[in-house]
Amino acid sequence: MPTLLTRSTLPVPSVRSAFTPAVTPAEGAGVQVHRGGGPRVIGADVPVPVRDGRHVPYANLDYAASAPCLEAVHEAVTRALPYYSSVHRGAGYTSQVTTAAYEEARETVRSFVGGWRRSAVVFTRNTTDAMNLLAHAVPAGTSVVVFETEHHASLLPWRRAVRLPAPATPAEAVSAADRALRASPVGSRLLVVTAASNVTGELWPIEELAQVARRNGARIAVDAAQLVPHRPIDMTALGLDYVAFSGHKLYAPFGAGVLAGRADWLRAAGPYLKGGGASASVGRTTRWAASAEQRHEAGSPNVLGVIALAAACEALSDAWDSVAAREEALVKRLRSGLAALPSVRELSLWGDRAPRVGIVSFVVDGWNARDVALTLSEEYGIGVRDGKFCAHPFVSHLLGADEQACSSGRDTAVRASLGIGTGEEHIDRLLTALAELAAR
Ligand code: PLP
Repeated sequence: MPTLLTRSTLPVPSVRSAFTPAVTPAEGAGVQVHRGGGPRVIGADVPVPVRDGRHVPYANLDYAASAPCLEAVHEAVTRALPYYSSVHRGAGYTSQVTTAAYEEARETVRSFVGGWRRSAVVFTRNTTDAMNLLAHAVPAGTSVVVFETEHHASLLPWRRAVRLPAPATPAEAVSAADRALRASPVGSRLLVVTAASNVTGELWPIEELAQVARRNGARIAVDAAQLVPHRPIDMTALGLDYVAFSGHKLYAPFGAGVLAGRADWLRAAGPYLKGGGASASVGRTTRWAASAEQRHEAGSPNVLGVIALAAACEALSDAWDSVAAREEALVKRLRSGLAALPSVRELSLWGDRAPRVGIVSFVVDGWNARDVALTLSEEYGIGVRDGKFCAHPFVSHLLGADEQACSSGRDTAVRASLGIGTGEEHIDRLLTALAELAAR
């Protein structure tokens, strides 16, 4: 077993110098390469230091945690800034422009998720916030059914929930949900499920799960945080009641997220936050705003975040074909390269052939995941994530099935995730690095 690193051995720069690197992009190798003709990200190949003193173009393989900003998003925010002003509060011209941009963004997001005209689109901070808002709004006594494979954002917010074990196949996911919903007490029911796993990238059968929910008089809430950066979603066509996602995973890192879906539970619930904006009138008693959006968006909203998010939705909507095709080729390259390394084992719930987005988790024999991630960063300029990815029960399940991982005492994994700025060179650098690590 190589020496444990546990922490970075490179000097950690002050915040100021970290953002003004010693080597400007123009001096770094492979500078600021923009790939293909579709949307482009800011900072692809930004130079980063490695242990031998060189700077190399960054190979960002950590999109699933937070994706870099799209150029189109940056431009939209820059265009909005001169008009930046209060939302829903001012009579001045710039307030009117900013308020209009905020409400237009709501329509853009509604269309991005295929929401019906009267669906609610509530702006939140992120997916975690969106799921907590929904948990706040479900009627008392609602039976919630959730798989243990969920990200904690979708696993934990519920007061009480039936947790289903990781299903062995997509069909088993559908039948397990059916059985659990059928066995739920009479009353409101909610099935919560992810669209694409943040651990394995595997796509869940959300259309079939929506049908099962409907047959059992239940609603379905879909955690789309890892789907929407990679594939379109259509709530109406799929029969989804709620969808949640985060701007920072969708190339819009300005702190906004979304809960979209049926308005009735949201309108009936007390405000998520109490304060200005959520109230219709305040005297001895308070009357809360009737619309789901107003009721749950108290305080001054994050208008730049929302404008950024809408710009990302527009840019992706115009480019799905090229984004998805490029990514598929890159994932194939990555997975076949990993499969050719005998000491690397990919984690998968449903096997090699299950359809998936560009997220791949794996373990390396003889290596602790933290050391792999730090060595990839410090020696190769590659950014990946290690750990249990805020999906502890799921990662334990996947590693529990892996005898070698268990016997060597490892309980974490490495995750490589791709996106719009990823190139073949990044994938090849990772594969070469892993082969070198395995040979040590
Ligand atoms: N759901 C999934 C599938 C995720 O991957 C994540 C983040 O990794 C979340 C929810 C939580 O997102 P956020 O941290 O933006 O709230």
